[in-house]
Amino acid sequence: MTRVALLGATGSIGRQAIGLIEAHPELELCAAMSGTRPLDDLGTRHRGAQMQVGGDPIGLLETNQPDVVLNAIVGFAGIRATLWALEQGVTLALANKESLVAGGALARAAQERGGGLLIPVDSEHSALTQCLDGRSAEQIDSLVLTASGGPFRGRSRDDLVSATVDEALAHPTWSMGPKITVDSATLANKGLELIEAHWLFDVDYDRIEVVVHPSSIVHGIVRFRDGAALAHIGYPDMRVPISYALTYPDRAATPVPALDLSVGLTLTFEAPDLDAFPLLRLAREAGEGGRTYPCAFNAANEVAVAAFLDGRIGFLDIAVMVEETLAHVGGDSVASLDELVAVDEEARRVAATRLVAA
Ligand code: NAD
Ligand code: MG
Repeated sequence: MTRVALLGATGSIGRQAIGLIEAHPELELCAAMSGTRPLDDLGTRHRGAQMQVGGDPIGLLETNQPDVVLNAIVGFAGIRATLWALEQGVTLALANKESLVAGGALARAAQERGGGLLIPVDSEHSALTQCLDGRSAEQIDSLVLTASGGPFRGRSRDDLVSATVDEALAHPTWSMGPKITVDSATLANKGLELIEAHWLFDVDYDRIEVVVHPSSIVHGIVRFRDGAALAHIGYPDMRVPISYALTYPDRAATPVPALDLSVGLTLTFEAPDLDAFPLLRLAREAGEGGRTYPCAFNAANEVAVAAFLDGRIGFLDIAVMVEETLAHVGGDSVASLDELVAVDEEARRVAATRLVAA
């Protein structure tokens, strides 16, 4: 029996995870947490599991001693749970990419001390993990992250001036929470994933490529030094990577159908348009800058996306706010979570002043 603590239980990933846990007799929900939404129904179905709405996840985790923490909280708010699992050596199924982006160095140090497994839930990183199959970084030539391109693929920068919230939320291939859906429309999501991949696989940024692949069938490609390239392909359905992370090293059955090639399959790839989608460029620069630039990038992006969803700024203003914040915050290194939280707060404060100016 695997005891699972599910953080972010009411979200898109959380709800899909509950479906998988309830269908799998070897998985037991021992604790669940949401940000604000009640968990009454879930508590009724899982009487032995502790439910918590809001507050600090650490007490919940310490009381229930899970075998796996599925961190599906959205945003930097997931950082404490990520660091706790890595420090304790508890397997971390990580959907909350923002915590690894902002706290990559702290997370790596915590994992070195704790020695636990970190299994990414993000579909591209799950794909790359499976293609890598434990091989060391020196055997890798390069990694390829695929991006659907989002709802605005093919649009020019000028076309995007008037992009609306409804248009940004209409993702062509994935159904997800609002924050990551906007991140997919701006390509900030792929930028976060670039930094996530750097920390997960210990590969330099110049060996991580992003390509636009509109049908989202190829989730990731590893090119190896011997000339072979392995790709992970399948329908775009998050239940595959969530199930992989929860049942590793097994590969449990899911309701997702096997890939049908009899109907034909055409795979196309194109370079991303960094002029129309500058957040991908900014994320790469933040990753290469290292130190606390990724934390500042993430914090400013969270503030800007919330403001866009509230109708307070336009679509293109998201990148402007992030770029202006990165000009002021991010050059320092941090040695502790408290210091990282201070950088996150400072970046949010700077981004918010741009909001007033906008
Ligand atoms: P969502 O908005 O649908 O759900 C977020 C969940 O986090 C909710 O349960 C909410 O109550 C909870 N939450 C928010 N703030 C919290 C806090 N302070 N403390 C505890 N819980 C809090 O988001 P989502 O789409 O499920 O995404 C969750 C994470 O997974 C994000 O980091 C996202 O980037 C990542 N991810 C999602 C997908 C996807 O298909 N949805 C794919 C890859 C990665
Ligand atoms: Mg992804």
